Amino acid sequence: MSKIEFDHTYSRLPDKFFIRTLPTPVASPRLIKLNHDLARQLGLEDQWLCSAEGIDMLAGNNIPQGAHPIATAYAGHQFGHFVPRLGDGRAILLGEVIDRNGVRRDIQLKGSGRTPFSRGGDGRAALGPVLREYILSEAMNALRIPTTRALAAVLTGETVARETSLPGAVLTRVASSHIRIGTFQFFAARGDFEGVRTLADHVIARHYPSAAEAEMPYLSLLAEVIGVQASLVAQWMLAGFIHGVMNTDNMSIAGETIDYGPCAFLDNYDPATVFSSIDHAGRYAYGNQGPVALWNLVRLAETLLPLLADDQDRAVSLAQNALATFDAQFEAVFITGMRSKLGLFTEEENDLTLIKELLDIMTRGQADFTLTFRYLSHSAGNATEDEELLSLFAEPGVFVEWLARWRSRISREAQTGSERRNAMLHVNPRFIPRNHRVEAVITAAVRNNDFRPFEELLAVLGQPFEDQPEFAHYADPPKINERVLQTFCGT
Ligand code: AMP
Ligand code: MG
Repeated sequence: MSKIEFDHTYSRLPDKFFIRTLPTPVASPRLIKLNHDLARQLGLEDQWLCSAEGIDMLAGNNIPQGAHPIATAYAGHQFGHFVPRLGDGRAILLGEVIDRNGVRRDIQLKGSGRTPFSRGGDGRAALGPVLREYILSEAMNALRIPTTRALAAVLTGETVARETSLPGAVLTRVASSHIRIGTFQFFAARGDFEGVRTLADHVIARHYPSAAEAEMPYLSLLAEVIGVQASLVAQWMLAGFIHGVMNTDNMSIAGETIDYGPCAFLDNYDPATVFSSIDHAGRYAYGNQGPVALWNLVRLAETLLPLLADDQDRAVSLAQNALATFDAQFEAVFITGMRSKLGLFTEEENDLTLIKELLDIMTRGQADFTLTFRYLSHSAGNATEDEELLSLFAEPGVFVEWLARWRSRISREAQTGSERRNAMLHVNPRFIPRNHRVEAVITAAVRNNDFRPFEELLAVLGQPFEDQPEFAHYADPPKINERVLQTFCGT
């Protein structure tokens, strides 16, 4: 009996879009975690998913009836260097389902064994990166930032060889689609413009149906992707999120955060922050994410040129005009979000200056990004709460001056202190997945097979805007000896 009602579209595209590949069975699957809420959203029976048969599916040992397992083809610029053939080297798409809200979503196994795109890799995932992606992607969702989701994590009962031998795991990932900027590049690099057109038509039908009605549907598609990416990356900035590997193969056409590798959240604010061990030049530093997103979108635009106009100069100028809107769109989402974070209900011309001054003082004062805004929310209610806020700054003096400017700014608005406080607490989270907490969870799981810290952290991060006093310690920045200075892909 089929337990999943698949409704495939991607695997019905021409053969050159993917390679039919089956997951490689694993020794002894064990369920670590099932996301019951997400399962219900997808219309999947969570009881069945927890059964031996369901777990076998989540491990890749049992292909559900109706699935069309494929590894998708894509290319990508990795750290600026073009690689014409990447593709799913360790992931297999089982197919698409229509969720309870009528939204089409991919179900993909990650870490499910070798595919024709694996190159030198083993097609597997270690437990640590699987838990990291589970925690980070679900935390992003709770922070209301578009993201792929984690449906399940299973242990394989096998080890994977990395620097040491580590427990293997498979993550079941759910996404609006797994189409990347690199998917367009795959066809464009081959001079296969029919391939680009077929893909663009698929993406329009699936993600941007209104573009089909536009006068120039492919230009409209480009404009839509520019808009969702500008908005997404601005939202990362507002949350202190660093993706870490913004290669064009890791940028979703649907505008979701995808491919959680060495990603991390800022503790103290500094735009130059880089955690990824492989990002030596700081290409993907926190403060560089806007410009990099635009660079990636230029690569997308290049693939679409032949579809934009017959005349190449005209195509280039249309693309340039669309790309030129990126900065303003990015800035608009950022400023609007920052106004909310600062509890501003109205717009004033000097707001951007106020924002920039604060960020500058935070950098120099090494203030914790998340707690600065959370405590500012408390201070909005009552100035007697300023003490905890001031304690975040290495040199509170300049910050005290800024605070006075902020108070004079909010005094020009009608809201009461408690109205402002409540609004701010709704947008300034108390809990983010702090690196040292994520590392501690992974260590407990990998070394001691103890998943209780994972469960607890996940539960806390599920309600990031609630105070949850019993879990107050999860809000704390790392002590000096707890600081995590580097994060790894772990692939
Ligand atoms: P990522 O760093 O996850 O964005 O992956 C970049 C490319 O390397 C993609 O084509 C992946 O499929 C591939 N890849 C990453 N890890 C592995 C692995 N363990 N085995 C095979 N391919 C991999
Ligand atoms: Mg990737």
